[in-house]
Amino acid sequence: MTEPDQLRLLAVHAHPDDESSKGAATMAKYVAEGVRVMVATCTGGERGSVLNPAMDRPEVWERLPQIRIEEMARAREILGVEQEFLGFVDSGLPEGDPLPPLPEGCFALVPLEEAAAPLVALIRRFKPQVITTYDERGGYPHPDHIKTHEISVHAFEAAGDPDRYPELGEPWQPSKLYYHMSFTLPRTKALHEAILAAGAESPYTEWLANWDPAHDISHRVTTRVPCAEYFPVRDAALIAHATQIDPEGRWFACPQETQQRVWPTEDYELARTLVDVPTPEDDLFAGIRSEVGVR
Ligand SMILES: [Zn+2]
Repeated sequence: MTEPDQLRLLAVHAHPDDESSKGAATMAKYVAEGVRVMVATCTGGERGSVLNPAMDRPEVWERLPQIRIEEMARAREILGVEQEFLGFVDSGLPEGDPLPPLPEGCFALVPLEEAAAPLVALIRRFKPQVITTYDERGGYPHPDHIKTHEISVHAFEAAGDPDRYPELGEPWQPSKLYYHMSFTLPRTKALHEAILAAGAESPYTEWLANWDPAHDISHRVTTRVPCAEYFPVRDAALIAHATQIDPEGRWFACPQETQQRVWPTEDYELARTLVDVPTPEDDLFAGIRSEVGVR
């Protein structure tokens, strides 16, 4: 059940683990403030690989889909969020030249109208004022991430329209739609320089050398949510996805204290809004709190 005077945030993600690497500290912060936070996970991550050498064992590979559901349950508890799978099948990340065709029946191949339906139903049931998702390039070019963007925009527009999906419940119009702007050039540069200044070796050197400034999206950032004190929660949730996250790997290559000092926010683009709010802003619920009657 949803209460009328309650703030609710819905974060739409492609695979189990995406919620812990994009916007996780923001969610933990809002949960601590009493906001209800729901994660919608489009696929089960069935075609993911085992990316942590310590977990690369036959008995893990045998039960990978089940293990990823268990990992998601742990991350959900750590973040303090609610979570639902939307029931689609992972498309996998196609590799090779030319790229192989996508596997039959996968999420990326489901027609948009049909693919957005479970999300429309969830929006009408959960009644979020705010939705977060990926930008039109998916944040990174995985077909499931691009599809996640597409269904989020489609559902944001359709959920409030009584003529669309009339069988899926009472219309509910969310007020704001945000795109994650997690990995921008200025942030990566700032972390890189802080690591070098501390006399350590930067994990970002090669990444920055290959970064085409034309592909930087930082000019689109409208919203920076201060959430540094929740970075430990974010990292604990990431580690819960043990098959996907190597604790020795690049996610943890920059010390948490450095991140907290140099870049203490998670950043977003306000992509659609039905409330009139000035930007830049530092709160995903700016312009909504007074309407709902909470502070
Ligand atoms: Zn993903």
